[in-house]
Amino acid sequence: MKKTFWYECISCGKKYEATKNITYCRNCGSPLIIRYPNDATFDKSRSKSIKDSIWRYWNLLPLHNERNIVSLGEGWTHLLKASRLSSYLGVKNLYLKNETTNPTGSFIDRGVSVAVSFAKEAGYKGTFCITKGNLGVSLAAYSAKADLKATIFIDRNIEIGKLYQIIAYGADVNIITEGKFTNTDFKNKDIFNLNAENPFIIEGKKTTIFEILEQMNWAKVDKIIVPFGSGGHIYAIWKGINELKERNVIGPMKVQIFGIKPKSCESSDNKKSIAIDLCIPSTKLSKFALNAIKETNGDLIYVSDEEILQSMMLLAHMEGIFAEPSAAITIAGLQHLLKKGLIDEDETIVSIITGFGLKNPRAIRILSPKPRKINSLIRNLDPSYGIRTMGRTKLEIMNILNEKTMDYGYGIWKKLIKKGINLTLPAVYQHLNELEKLELITKVVSFDESTQKKKVFYKLTRRGLNLLRELYIR
Ligand SMILES: [Zn+2]
Repeated sequence: MKKTFWYECISCGKKYEATKNITYCRNCGSPLIIRYPNDATFDKSRSKSIKDSIWRYWNLLPLHNERNIVSLGEGWTHLLKASRLSSYLGVKNLYLKNETTNPTGSFIDRGVSVAVSFAKEAGYKGTFCITKGNLGVSLAAYSAKADLKATIFIDRNIEIGKLYQIIAYGADVNIITEGKFTNTDFKNKDIFNLNAENPFIIEGKKTTIFEILEQMNWAKVDKIIVPFGSGGHIYAIWKGINELKERNVIGPMKVQIFGIKPKSCESSDNKKSIAIDLCIPSTKLSKFALNAIKETNGDLIYVSDEEILQSMMLLAHMEGIFAEPSAAITIAGLQHLLKKGLIDEDETIVSIITGFGLKNPRAIRILSPKPRKINSLIRNLDPSYGIRTMGRTKLEIMNILNEKTMDYGYGIWKKLIKKGINLTLPAVYQHLNELEKLELITKVVSFDESTQKKKVFYKLTRRGLNLLRELYIR
């Protein structure tokens, strides 16, 4: 049986054939979503080949031919009972949907697997996205698997772990200054242009709720707590619940959806937060995600960066889950609900832990109760670490030597003063000695015939040069 699906405008209901990638309605500009005929049953047995992934829900995913599936084993992640955290927080039935074990360490793999599979089926030649992090990481990985060239524009505030991932998967990486270039400015009909509102992304993300309910043996879930970025995941969960209701897979179960956002991006959408991935300007889909929250009697909750960091620690120390800040945020949200008395003791709560902790190593340094100990551990492993924390003077000396092939102590001293670093000449020599000990610079001695004196120059070593390069991509 040939599978059917089509686009439908989320606002005006206009329908479009789903043969090419379209994100917004040509009639009213609202996001498009995918619809299936009523006789498309919820039958997980259709895709026997990849049953331990999102593709077990084949009937309700938008792809015609199983041969075009691009999968890295996304989804079908563990739903863990959080026993220690439950007793610490004073709840009975808390479950964690551990999305950190997805192929690129993020729940977004669910959506991108669907999007890239469709891109392959529809004959696209490459992929493109603008990203603050995980969307780009995932697109790079799945494009590699599909043999499509990925072009990724990254936000300046991207976390270092995510940048390394994108580079590792071989994508073409470019930096974008915020607001100067958007997805809609990019026009190439042969390239699959992806953003968080893409209807295929939403389809993949909705499998989170299919899995949670299946893993709970279709028992009642009272509250589900989700990080709120673009709102796409929340909208997708709501859509998934409705598809199950329409197909009588579940009864009139009331699942309350709670979205959690960092307080620091409440006032201005672009403010910095430790969970920068969630500081996204309102998308066209956000409004519909908020409606979904409202309709389920849920709420949108703002939490502080301190609360996010504390939740990261709780998850790691008590449940063995190392989550990134934008994932641990749901535990901070849960604590708000508890404080407000909005959780009954017997309720079943599922917190979605969307991404892996090493994507943002900086957060560990901030949250550690013993940062000095971490610094000393790292310094013992990597001697060059010292220079990175020793401050501006040494870095400026290295910069001076990078601008010029060689320089002598007095010349370096003069240039430091010009840069506003005032210190004595002996202090400069002290820094030069230390840099030499770290093998970041080296001495070159020459003999000046006219003055009959030795002259000592300094220059960067290969190691010093590499370190500078490394510092500039941070
Ligand atoms: Zn419309």
